[in-house]
Order: sequence, then C-alpha cells, then structure tokens
Amino acid sequence: MISVFGSANMDLVAYVSKAPKRGETVTGHRFRTIPGGKGANQAIAAARAGAQVAFLGAVGDDGFGAEMRVTLAEAGVDVRGLRQVPGPSGIAHIVVDDEGGNSIVVVPGANGTVTGPSPDDLAVIAASQALLLQLELPLEAVVKAAEGARAAGVPVFLTPAPAQPLPGELLDAVTTIVPNEHEAAAITGVSGADTALDALLERVEEAVITLGSEGALHGSRSGQRLRVPAVPAKAVDTTAAGDTFVGALAVARSEGRAMADALSFASAAAALSVQREGASTSMPARQEIEEFLAS
Ligand code: ATP
Repeated sequence: MISVFGSANMDLVAYVSKAPKRGETVTGHRFRTIPGGKGANQAIAAARAGAQVAFLGAVGDDGFGAEMRVTLAEAGVDVRGLRQVPGPSGIAHIVVDDEGGNSIVVVPGANGTVTGPSPDDLAVIAASQALLLQLELPLEAVVKAAEGARAAGVPVFLTPAPAQPLPGELLDAVTTIVPNEHEAAAITGVSGADTALDALLERVEEAVITLGSEGALHGSRSGQRLRVPAVPAKAVDTTAAGDTFVGALAVARSEGRAMADALSFASAAAALSVQREGASTSMPARQEIEEFLAS
C-alpha cells in the first residue's frame, strides 16, 4: 500500500482569450471544475498505476469536498483518512488564456487546517510501502508525517512544490526528492540540472529532477546516475505530468523494481498523461502503461 498525506483542491478553471487586468471584466468561453491538488493527484496517479492507495488529508463541509471524496473513491483510493472539517474546501482559481498561459490563486481552505498526521494516519503510514508528500499542506504537518514514516522505516517521496526553503529536519526524513527543474533551482540556488542534482545530494539521499519534454535526471549518494529521456508524446495538456510521474515511480519502486525500470515506467505514465486534458482525468491505468512500454 502507498499512503499520500497531502492536499485536495477543487480546480476552478476559466478559459479566456486574454486574462483580465485589474478592474477589467472579460467574458470567458469555457469553465470547468476539475478535482485536483497535488496530494489528490498523486493518490489517483498511484491508484491508476496499480497500487492500493490510502489518502490522508482534509476537505471542507461544502459540495467541493463531497465531490473530491467521490472522485478519489471512484479512482479506487481509500478515503477513510480524508477528514471533513467545518468551512470551505481548498480551491485553485485558474485562468487559462488562448496562448496556454495561466494565472492561479490557491486558497488552502481545509488543507490549511491540517497541523499534522493523526495517530490513525501514523498507523496507516507505518503500514505502507511508501509515503508521498508535497508542500500544499502546512510545512509543520509535512515534517511530522515525514518523521513518522522515517521512524517506521517507510520510504518518503517528496515533491517540493510549491517551492520554498526546506528545513533540514524534513530533508533528513526524505528518501527521494522529486523536484522539477525550477523547484530544483529554487531549493539549491543553482541552475542547470546536473549542478542542482549535486547540490540536492548534499542534503538528500536520492533525487530525481524532472525536465518536462527532456525527461528526468536521477542521482543517489551511492554515486548512481541515470538520465531517462521523455517518451515522445504529442502534448495536449501537461497539467499534473509531474504528479503522474511521482505516483507511478513510487508504485514501481514499492514493487521492488530497479530504479532504471521504475523511471521508465514513470516516464511512460507521464507521457500518456500529457496527451489528454486535465489532471485526474488524464492519468493512465496500469494496463495502458504496460502496453505502451511493450509497444
Ligand atoms: P506539472 O507541474 O505540470 O505537474 P512538472 O513541472 O512537475 O509538471 P515536468 O518536469 O514538466 O513536471 O514533467 C514531469 C515528467 O512528465 C517528465 O519528467 C517527463 O517524463 C513527462 N513529460 C512532461 N512533458 C512531457 C512531454 N511534452 N512529452 C513527454 N513526456 C513529458
């Protein structure tokens, strides 16, 4: 089983020709509500990729919270650890213009009330083969979850997004950090994937830097280095490519696959996801990933 301790947001997406300036009103041409949040996305990605997954987090007592719960459950995710708290669920208010540019306002809502894993959450984490963390919950909560996993000998995968300074106590408890290139540069203060990888490995045992259509770069303190090309794909929407990649990577690693194999599995899953619109709506099923790798 894989546990995910993280955020659940409803994405409210308005599609416009040109984003409004301050004081301006524009008419959009399409609107969608899409269940998202990096925690929920990674949980769904891992479930689709073939793992049993438990999601630990919080939604509000509004309609969005109820919809998030149904979406996760329909993807096969165990939602017994998804708490309902008074007040609104987390939302991401997203404006996408005709050139594909976007501006986003995230209001954490229920996610912001999570101060740490409950005793029940810690028991679920301790019984897992891996814990997936991101930074959309309060940092103190993320640190406590990571430390709980480390104390139980459970590998911790951290997606350090949104990028922010990372305390040593968090990195000490992380097994594998999986930033994209921008996050890696923000955390280390150096640019260039190879240089950033060296800097990350001074603070974490293992790192995978995702490089969009350029693939991914892996390194570990044992000296292993792997460069994985992206699987060629006609990208329609790269939203949650990173979350799909991490979810699939954790599934493959928890099944005992070697890192090179696990990275290929994750690259195939992510490449399939960029060919479809949306976040949770775009993540491939296990069979699809296996068939894609075999072809
Ligand atoms: P997001 O924030 O959209 O979730 P990200 O910035 O965290 O994404 P990326 O580095 O853009 O993550 O992409 C993650 C992985 O997805 C890459 O390592 C690669 O395997 C795959 N990927 C991304 N874009 C493409 C593409 N255009 N074609 C094929 N694979 C892609």
